[in-house]
Amino acid sequence: MDLYEYQGKELFGRFGIPVSEGRLATTPGEARAAAEQLGGPVVVKAQVLTGGRGKAGGIKLADSPEDAERKAEEILGLDINGHVVRKLWIEQASEIANEYYLSVTFDRGTKKALFMLTTEGGIEIEEVAENNPDALARLHVDPLEGFQPYQGRRLIYGAGIADPSEQMQILDIVGKLYTCFVQTDAVLCEINPLIVTPGGEVRALDSKFTVDDNALYKHPDIAEMRDLEAYPPEERAAREKGVTYVKLDGEVGILGNGAGLVMSTLDVIALVGGRPANFCDLGGGGDAQGVVDALEIISADPQVRSIVFNIFAGITRCDVVAQGILQALDETKIEHPIVVRFDGTNAEEGRALLAEAAPPNLHVEATMLDAAKRAVELAA
Ligand code: GDP
Ligand code: MN
Repeated sequence: MDLYEYQGKELFGRFGIPVSEGRLATTPGEARAAAEQLGGPVVVKAQVLTGGRGKAGGIKLADSPEDAERKAEEILGLDINGHVVRKLWIEQASEIANEYYLSVTFDRGTKKALFMLTTEGGIEIEEVAENNPDALARLHVDPLEGFQPYQGRRLIYGAGIADPSEQMQILDIVGKLYTCFVQTDAVLCEINPLIVTPGGEVRALDSKFTVDDNALYKHPDIAEMRDLEAYPPEERAAREKGVTYVKLDGEVGILGNGAGLVMSTLDVIALVGGRPANFCDLGGGGDAQGVVDALEIISADPQVRSIVFNIFAGITRCDVVAQGILQALDETKIEHPIVVRFDGTNAEEGRALLAEAAPPNLHVEATMLDAAKRAVELAA
């Protein structure tokens, strides 16, 4: 789950990482009031779940409350990489002497947290890694040892930060960022830029924060930060029903059990010349209600022309899934052609149930490839 800048900064603040004071605003009037409360010049920042807001005109300095109101009017409604701005973060403006970059991510290769620090901040880190790799200091932290200050010093010297006061402040921030990363079950905490003010104070000016979805049950306060309005309506409906669904832009609706199998199904659809309309994972259960919910969500997409239903039953039983399909067809009057491929536990029983009921729009195929071909034909 990706957090907005202001949410990430709230979490940074909880762990003692210095951030600027700010207020959330959804209208120009609120932006003006926020600027009045904060006093002095402010920066009006678009809150969208994508980077590069600055370049897209989503970040503007304002030197008075009236100016903040005007800037808010300009930014609200702006489309930044397909994300429409509905919220603004109004923050006390900072003076900037230097822009650095600091992040910690989860490095799956080494199974360790990975810090990256460079004095070449403000720009995309990929650019630094490509054009100036020596400027990027890296540090892996062993999860069993935890973070040790000497490692932080190595990171800071490695990045070439020479000022003793900056070194001390950044060491403190690195340690706190590690605690924040571990305790929130984050997979990414990025500060770009980490600024140094002309007075020598180091502060996080931006935040990019991703929390592991699978750990959200441990963090109800963070789970609550999810902004359902930021998702397409289909995905919102799916989430409310507990169905894992991602909208894509093709014609073949896809439903399977298990993320890996669904991903393979997307590939096979593409292989036989079709375009998947969605990713939809039924999960391990596959009970009738789950199938009804998933089929409703998939068939609500007006682009869908056919649906392929790919089940490999281990824990799930194909006869239960078959009942779910038949129940869904009864309840929802889905008229799309549906191609079913069953394999694994009780596959024969499942196919027998479908054959017995024999709804006119149901097609059973023996293999994933045949099912994909049939679904693509039917979508044409
Ligand atoms: P991003 O473009 O989405 O990464 O948004 P950032 O929050 O990183 O802001 C982009 C750039 O705007 C920063 O690198 C700064 O140069 C500038 N900026 C943001 N906030 C301030 C501020 O308070 N004062 C000044 N002077 N510049 C700012
Ligand atoms: Mn940034």
